[in-house]
Amino acid sequence: MTTATNTAQAARAKALEWINLGSKRLLIGGEWIGAASGKTFEVINPATEQLLCRVAEADSADVDAAVIAARRAFEAPSWAAMSPHARTRVLLKIADKIEQHIDELAAIESLDNGMPLWFAQGAVTAAVDIFRYYAGWCSKVLGTTVPSDGSTLIYTLREPLGVCGQIIPWNVPILMAAIKFANALCCGNTVILKPAELACLTSIRLAELIQETDLPPGVVNVLPGFGATAGAALAQHPGVDKIAFTGSTAIGKQIVRDATSNLKKVTLELGGKAPNVIFADADIERAVQTAVKTFCGNSGQVCSAGTRLFVQESIHDQVAERVAQVAATWKVGDPFAADTRLGPLISAKQRDRVWSYLGAGQDEGALLRAGGNAWTGPGYFVEPVVFHNVRNGMKIAQEEIFGPVLSIIPFKDEEDAVLQGNDTTYGLSAAVWTRNISRAHKVVRALKAGRLWINTFGESDPAMAFGGYKQSGWGREFGQESIEAYTQSKSIMVRL
Ligand code: NAP
Ligand code: MG
Repeated sequence: MTTATNTAQAARAKALEWINLGSKRLLIGGEWIGAASGKTFEVINPATEQLLCRVAEADSADVDAAVIAARRAFEAPSWAAMSPHARTRVLLKIADKIEQHIDELAAIESLDNGMPLWFAQGAVTAAVDIFRYYAGWCSKVLGTTVPSDGSTLIYTLREPLGVCGQIIPWNVPILMAAIKFANALCCGNTVILKPAELACLTSIRLAELIQETDLPPGVVNVLPGFGATAGAALAQHPGVDKIAFTGSTAIGKQIVRDATSNLKKVTLELGGKAPNVIFADADIERAVQTAVKTFCGNSGQVCSAGTRLFVQESIHDQVAERVAQVAATWKVGDPFAADTRLGPLISAKQRDRVWSYLGAGQDEGALLRAGGNAWTGPGYFVEPVVFHNVRNGMKIAQEEIFGPVLSIIPFKDEEDAVLQGNDTTYGLSAAVWTRNISRAHKVVRALKAGRLWINTFGESDPAMAFGGYKQSGWGREFGQESIEAYTQSKSIMVRL
């Protein structure tokens, strides 16, 4: 066995040791407890379809208890009066804890979600960076002084919102939990996290590691459970001050309706159908390699994935051929094998949904260039699928598939690329590939999306804001803008 294989197997064994410790529970007020109903649900490994463990299933009674705990923790001096510098130290400690457990956390994520170990390691490493980035923000949540005639002093304070409900999807749970926790905590809030029931284990393990730091009990609460019960109860709860939701646009709209109960603040990170635009003057080979990476990475279960590849007419056939060649080298298989590039999809339901688009694309006249072979054996695997000569109005080009399916769409010129690129209800991310610097900047200005790239795709930095135009969301996470999303301002006048 190679060293890489040994390391992967050691990480897997460590993860299984933790998983096999027994049923996982809810974290409420610093205690790990069973659900009030006594119910549990199964956690399945999507690569083998086998049971990993059972997890306590939170519902509205547990949400009530967590809200009380989170409110108490929010008001307790141990958290409310903690100096920003002490908060920085806590977040740095959490970052250190994650860093010390990268391989174990990554292996838990791979077992639970199915993503390849190398992808999971990248996600856990990003989680470390996120905590370190927000650790620095604790002491920089600044108010302002307002100019006056000297007879008054007017200033503002930026204060935390209170109890934040956070609902995350299953696609990259460790990253989602990290951004939600770090962002909220650095501003002085307390949190109740509801991970997706399909992949909740790293949220639980992360919370255990956080419990080993000096964070007061009740500041972080974790309620694994289903969306329709635990998630909805959190969104509707009058004792919750904010909901930060990441997930589908359809459920995002439901969250907004539920949040009207007490007009809690809402931020939404929703779906996407990103245009990735290649002009004929681009570095074609780099553009192709990256195009494949973005639609195949995490088996396409990424909200910002570049799923609509717009290619200038003169190079369409050449690019389609090369994309199909490169996609064929993206090996599907065991998430712990060193040469695996794509693991399974999260569930049988998701696999069947993705598979249905193969038929839909062909029915509408798109040409299948790669993929389409059914997987035999256990696991919810799907090989990369490439359609070319797609029209932007087709279902496969309009709907978020959330699987490794690419639509290659020809375009004429700059104007056409922008027109077609923006012809979508989504607006999360976009990219342009060209050696013409003026064109690059003109096109990114014209594309309606929250995060854009020039001559790259998918790279991230905790300081770079992320969020949607149009139906891809409300508000921003990451970077300075997210500090505003977890605080509110108070203005004060003093008559001198
Ligand atoms: P989803 O069905 O919307 O679920 C997301 C989360 O919401 C899960 O925890 C789910 O719980 C919960 N939920 C479901 N119904 C709910 C309800 N009525 N009230 C409250 N919570 C509810 O999305 P998904 O299928 O898990 O994830 C894929 C979607 O997430 C894609 O559309 C993708 O684009 C989007 N996404 C967006 C971003 C971003 O940052 N913009 C990042 C990643 C993913 P259960 O699943 O446990 O029932
Ligand atoms: Mg799972």
